[in-house]
Amino acid sequence: MTVPAMRRPRVKPEHRAYRTVDGHVRIGSVVHGIGAEVRDPDGWVWTLVEAMDGTRGTADVVAEVSRRHPHLALPGPDILQAITDLTTAGYVEDAGAAPPAELSERERERYGRGMTLLRWMDLGPRSSVWEPQVRLRRARVLLIGVGGTGGAAARDLVASGVGRLHCVEPDVVELSNLNRQTLFRECDIGTPKIDAALTALRALNSDATVTGVRREVRGPADLEGLLAGGSGGASSYDVLLLAADRPAVIRGWANEVCLASGTPWAEAGYRGPLVNVGVFAPGRGACWECLRLSEAERRDLRLAPGQDEDVASPRMPWNPVNAVTAGLSGSLLAHAALMLLCGIPRIAPGYRFGLNLMLPADPLMQRTPRRPDCPACGTQPTEERGAGDRTGAEVTRAAADGSVAAGAPGLGVAPRPAGGCEAVLGAPGPGGAPRSAGGPEAVADGSVAADAPEPGVGPRSEVGSEAVDRRQSAHLRRPAGPPSSSRLPRPPAPA
Ligand SMILES: [Zn+2]
Repeated sequence: MTVPAMRRPRVKPEHRAYRTVDGHVRIGSVVHGIGAEVRDPDGWVWTLVEAMDGTRGTADVVAEVSRRHPHLALPGPDILQAITDLTTAGYVEDAGAAPPAELSERERERYGRGMTLLRWMDLGPRSSVWEPQVRLRRARVLLIGVGGTGGAAARDLVASGVGRLHCVEPDVVELSNLNRQTLFRECDIGTPKIDAALTALRALNSDATVTGVRREVRGPADLEGLLAGGSGGASSYDVLLLAADRPAVIRGWANEVCLASGTPWAEAGYRGPLVNVGVFAPGRGACWECLRLSEAERRDLRLAPGQDEDVASPRMPWNPVNAVTAGLSGSLLAHAALMLLCGIPRIAPGYRFGLNLMLPADPLMQRTPRRPDCPACGTQPTEERGAGDRTGAEVTRAAADGSVAAGAPGLGVAPRPAGGCEAVLGAPGPGGAPRSAGGPEAVADGSVAADAPEPGVGPRSEVGSEAVDRRQSAHLRRPAGPPSSSRLPRPPAPA
């Protein structure tokens, strides 16, 4: 989509701009990681965002700004460039774009709230605000396990409008499942979970195609066959979601099979109060094994000679979990799938993040560069990263060296100050020193420690335009962050 081709550019309602006390224009809501601030000493940027109310075409917006600021003699191309900057940064939609025919009126009503959330979180231009929903509708997802985590993930995906979901699960519903596996009812006890899950999911959304099979994954070949789905090809699915923890090596199998088939995938789970999700895409960032190796090296469990990790993280014959921890992990898994399918938010894969319910203000994040010595992906080619992907390195650099500070060219975008409705995972850490690495709480498979790099949902990077800066009428001011004492130490920028 080109900006001049937009029928009626409009600042997204969720990104409605306002003027600060010192005359700057703030746009993009109060959520850290979305909003930006634009200097506007001559006032024309404010006129611009006001004019982009969806009632006029692009040329008329340009004309309106020129008409109201004749003394500035703003060249039309400069105004157009400013519109382009704001659109590229994701703040502008085309109010005149027709909804895609692929989505029925019933679907648009059903997914209307979800569309507005995606629109809010979407930091790139789209031909239609419904485009991500269309992607979900076309998506094919393979889900291994529909217990606590998998059941919640399936529920969230089917409710959100994922078009095709295939579930794999070997077990039967038991009474002890019902404290967390909320797809099931007491009347389901004794029936195969897959049957009960399909009934529940189809009742939730008859527009989605939900299928399943009762079987156990016994090796990588089983996963490979499931992914191929009878097509004989590499993968019949856009995403694999792993919500099974048996056997213990299943994550390694999933990593291996997804690398071979080029399938993006995610895995989620919990260990006591730790809930987390790992997000991976072959050729784009670290694979699961890269992350596992780096975490093992980073941790210092202070083990005595001859001890293995199990002494610090004992395995129990029962699984301490309730509907909260299982539900959180399942919802994070569904979120990972939506992110991989729609690119919203635009965070490069190759990381694990989550929550520690014992320290809610201390989000968990683990990201590492891809390892050349990784036995799983070390020989894999690196793909061109997708347009708009924000890698961890990029984001960290932006945070570390203030590359979005005042004076940056164009209508740049910067993180909003802390306070109010911060996105938890993008928020700086709380006051106090971070926990040291390697405590018992940092041991669980898939768990991460507090001093891991910050998540890739930090500051926005700038969008390039010199036009506005030449006018000295609008350029970025990096809003002040929270007091430095409340920040976790920043990691060095990955290579
Ligand atoms: Zn690897």
